[in-house]
Amino acid sequence: MDYRRGVVTGESVWRAIVLYGVNSATYKFAFGATLLEIAATGRNHVTLEDLAPQYAELLCRALQRQPRQGTAVRSKFLDACRAFNAGELDRDTLHRRTAQLGFNNVIDAFPQLGGQQAPVRYYEDQRKHSATPGLVLRDELLELASSVHAQDLDAETTARWRLVETAWATGISNAVLAPSLVYDSVTQHLVLKTKQRRKSVTGVVAALSGYQDGRCAYCNEGMAQGDSAGPIVEHVLPWKLLTRRWRGPDVDAIWNLVLSCWPCNQAKRDRAPHETWMPWLEQRNNDLIESRHPLREVLMAQTGETAAARHATLKLAYQRATELLPAVWAPPAGAHIT
Ligand SMILES: [Zn+2]
Repeated sequence: MDYRRGVVTGESVWRAIVLYGVNSATYKFAFGATLLEIAATGRNHVTLEDLAPQYAELLCRALQRQPRQGTAVRSKFLDACRAFNAGELDRDTLHRRTAQLGFNNVIDAFPQLGGQQAPVRYYEDQRKHSATPGLVLRDELLELASSVHAQDLDAETTARWRLVETAWATGISNAVLAPSLVYDSVTQHLVLKTKQRRKSVTGVVAALSGYQDGRCAYCNEGMAQGDSAGPIVEHVLPWKLLTRRWRGPDVDAIWNLVLSCWPCNQAKRDRAPHETWMPWLEQRNNDLIESRHPLREVLMAQTGETAAARHATLKLAYQRATELLPAVWAPPAGAHIT
């Protein structure tokens, strides 16, 4: 992940905020999505009243999907959204309450990373400005919103949102239920599996894309999620192992899934990558773990609690995989290890 390797760009910092920022409520995701959408129109100044309709809409929909959207017991703003959903509040009142209550913390909290101001600023807070109160949207945000990656960032934000709310709702953040978040290869979704049913949480492409900065895991070329040619969900240790006498962790699971471009996927076929590539996967899995629940708990359940344990699991799995299927594939040289 670029940001965690010290690469500071408008895109890398945005991804870090979405994937690594602290969450006590899901406002941040709604706020990020709203900012991207409004900035795409090219406006460089917005009032809270401008932001309120889209922001409230996203949170009202989220509450219908999943009643728990924060860790706090009560929130006046979320109560207003609930009242709107229940038909007890009209739309104008909802928007007014949203402008009054909904942005209190998120405007300050959104640009925080690891307790500090993020190195890229996307807006200036001018709420107290007497003549033109609101937010000044900076070029960094306007460029991001008009870039070819804007849609991907939006999809990644939605995926992260679904994962976080699922963790809160199900207790995956307490690790007990981590094994129930599984990969469904037919739909390419992460699915919550209980005795009674399977429920889609989010698509795995959007869930993983941010951690590899929208680039192919093997050749490092950029890939857009909307393109017909990619990204492709790729098994690092080949799925074919499951048709052999495979003794090792389930290869049809998130620890072993990466996104690749079409040419790399076609070239690799049913082979493991050369072992010199494997540190990339180890690092990526550690990046997933650092972004906390629920993928943290899922990855730990699949490959080990500590970095040392995960390293040993991966090494053993690789050894066994290449005993069963000895041919390996060398990814294009030099692009991937940073
Ligand atoms: Zn590639």
